[in-house]
Amino acid sequence: MSAVRPLPLPPPDDDEARRQAALDAYAIVDTVPELAYDDIVRLAATLCDVPAAAISLIDHERQWFKAQYGFDRCQTPREEAICDRTIRHPGQMLVIEDLRAQSEFAPPSLRIGEQSLRFYAGMPLLSPDGHALGAICVLDSKPRALSAAQREGLEVLARQTQHLFELRRYALEQRRLLSEREAFAQRLEDARADLQRRNDQLEHNATHDALTGLLNRAALAQLRDNPAAMRQLQHAPYTLMLLDIDHFKQVNDRHGHLLGDRALRAVADAVAASIRQHDIAVRYGGEEFLVLLPDTRLATAAQVAERIRQRIAHVALPFALTVSIGLAASEPTRDWSERVFDRADQALYRAKSAGRNRVVVDDTPLHE
Ligand code: GH3
Ligand code: MG
Ligand code: MG
Repeated sequence: MSAVRPLPLPPPDDDEARRQAALDAYAIVDTVPELAYDDIVRLAATLCDVPAAAISLIDHERQWFKAQYGFDRCQTPREEAICDRTIRHPGQMLVIEDLRAQSEFAPPSLRIGEQSLRFYAGMPLLSPDGHALGAICVLDSKPRALSAAQREGLEVLARQTQHLFELRRYALEQRRLLSEREAFAQRLEDARADLQRRNDQLEHNATHDALTGLLNRAALAQLRDNPAAMRQLQHAPYTLMLLDIDHFKQVNDRHGHLLGDRALRAVADAVAASIRQHDIAVRYGGEEFLVLLPDTRLATAAQVAERIRQRIAHVALPFALTVSIGLAASEPTRDWSERVFDRADQALYRAKSAGRNRVVVDDTPLHE
């Protein structure tokens, strides 16, 4: 019978906290049974010629068995765990050949078959930095001793169990790194998408009028500077429309700027609702709008303009809102020129002079 070490003092609290943290790093407690661990405890029992064996992990107030052979409890209270004594001396096997002869040990509630525990041998299971996580132990209901070869075998199995623990931690670490990388890639993608959104927004803001949502003058300038877009516009006769709100200054003066803004939006909406998708509507000045109607002859454009004028006249506002519109057609052999704009402007001027709230079509002869 080998002597049992006297009961050591409980470890200092911070040591125990570090030990528990080392165990937690494996995230192994309360996992499902695994064949690799089951094989090890069966081998331990066979090797030591005992009816029971276990891989016990000391977790807070309990010992939990990752694998057990010869009994079927999955955990016991920590205070009755002999493995809790074993881990006080990491690196050293604890052998109790007859528990009954050791008055310091309360008889554990764990039973082998119907009988209480008499023999215990446990080898601590260590983390690489020396924390004892638990023990691999062999158990019997009869007193016995271990041969030197059996002790050595149990030590080998303890090392194999530690290898399994390390493999598990390595796999966890790889999974963590992978999900970190994925999360990082996702953050990168989110940032890129956010940047793209902001960029799109900036681009939109730079080319659109904030009040009406129509294109602004800068967008029109971009169009005129873009040869491909101009060629596209000029491949067939187009019409240019200039629209100006009548007596808008009075609207502002009498009804205030807020209602003035509402009127501007109503005009923009009426224009947008009356044109085709590829027509180009621009808020050209304060209360002036320009519409380019590609591939559209004057007569058709005049119908569109008339529709716009009527729509605006019927907008529900606390005051009458009317517009004057001037139209001019492009000259087939010439590119975009100030002349088309001038002609439309002159037509608009004539609409104003003739009493406003009307559409006037440019009638100056081409190539004069
Ligand atoms: P006409 O019939 O000859 O066009 O007269 P009008 O009063 O419409 O013309 P005028 O050019 O004298 O006045 C244009 C007014 O448009 C003056 C300005 O206060 C108003 N305006 C320009 N931009 C805005 C805007 O963004 N919001 C509001 N509420 N008013 C604007
Ligand atoms: Mg004006
Ligand atoms: Mg005006």
